[in-house]
Amino acid sequence: MDLPELKCDVCGQKAKGVGASRLGAISFAYCSDCLKEQAEPYGMMVFTVADIGLESCAEWFKLVIQGTLKRTNKTYEKFLIDLEEEKVRLEKEYEEMMSEIESD
Ligand SMILES: [Zn+2]
Repeated sequence: MDLPELKCDVCGQKAKGVGASRLGAISFAYCSDCLKEQAEPYGMMVFTVADIGLESCAEWFKLVIQGTLKRTNKTYEKFLIDLEEEKVRLEKEYEEMMSEIESD
C-alpha cells in the first residue's frame, strides 16, 4: 500500500518533507518554496500571533509573517482582520474556561 502524497501544510503543493515549525513545538510538511520563504500554515501563524501579541513578536518572526502571507496570497490587511477575530475567539474561549472552573 502506498502512503498518500505528502502535501505542504502551508500552500498544498507537493511537500519536500516534514520539519520543525518556527511556531513552537510542532512539525508540519513544507514544500521547497514555503521553506525558502519561512512560511508557516496560515491559521497556526494567526493563532500564534494572537496568543503572544503582534507587538511582542521578535524581529525574525516578522519574516515568518511576511513569508506566510506571500505563500498563502493574503494581504497584511486581511491578516490584521483575522488576527482581531482570533483574539476575540481566544478571549471568549478563555472566559468560558474560567466560568467553568468557577462553577465547579
Ligand atoms: Zn508550500
